[in-house]
Amino acid sequence: MKNYLLKMSLVISLFVLAGCNDDDNQNNYEPLTTNEQSSLLFMLEEEKLARDTYRYLDNLWGLTEFENIKQSEQEHMDAIAQQLDRYSISYTILPEGEFNNQDLQDLYDQFVIDGQNSQVAALTIGATIEDLDIVDLEEESLLIQNSAVLNVYESLQCGSRNHLRSFTSALDNSGVTYVPQYLTQEEYNTIIASDYEQCN
Ligand code: MN
Ligand code: MN
Repeated sequence: MKNYLLKMSLVISLFVLAGCNDDDNQNNYEPLTTNEQSSLLFMLEEEKLARDTYRYLDNLWGLTEFENIKQSEQEHMDAIAQQLDRYSISYTILPEGEFNNQDLQDLYDQFVIDGQNSQVAALTIGATIEDLDIVDLEEESLLIQNSAVLNVYESLQCGSRNHLRSFTSALDNSGVTYVPQYLTQEEYNTIIASDYEQCN
């Protein structure tokens, strides 16, 4: 999702910050780097993309998958917001369907159009969001050192794997095979072949 330049600047900043030893953090929590703050703010909106899209598709199609999973996405947003609150980092949750990040806004706008086509199109959007979310959480985790944030990302990925299983199994029941767009086919097959997980 993020462009190359941003990634490079994150890597360079992490390298610089590696020399810092901020033991006197006011909250006695592990220090949170600027990159970790940006990551949390980005992932908060990506979870919002999932929540808002599923709310929209649930209203449109009334499928149980969307009804159940949209609630879980609210919990994912809350888990990230809790980390931001812990460090008194300010954030804004825009109204439904509105995003600060233009890439996420573009995805939402396209999902709203495509999701009207059919139930299969709507379920494919669900699988696509989970596919993207797992990969983004994986990539973001590589730039995170804070253990509490890493735990949140691991828990969100676990939830996303369950959501992916749920959407793709509903597609299977309609005779449609989902083709991964962000995960490799191998990573995707591993997730689909394993059982529903208990996530913390
Ligand atoms: Mn999620
Ligand atoms: Mn999800």
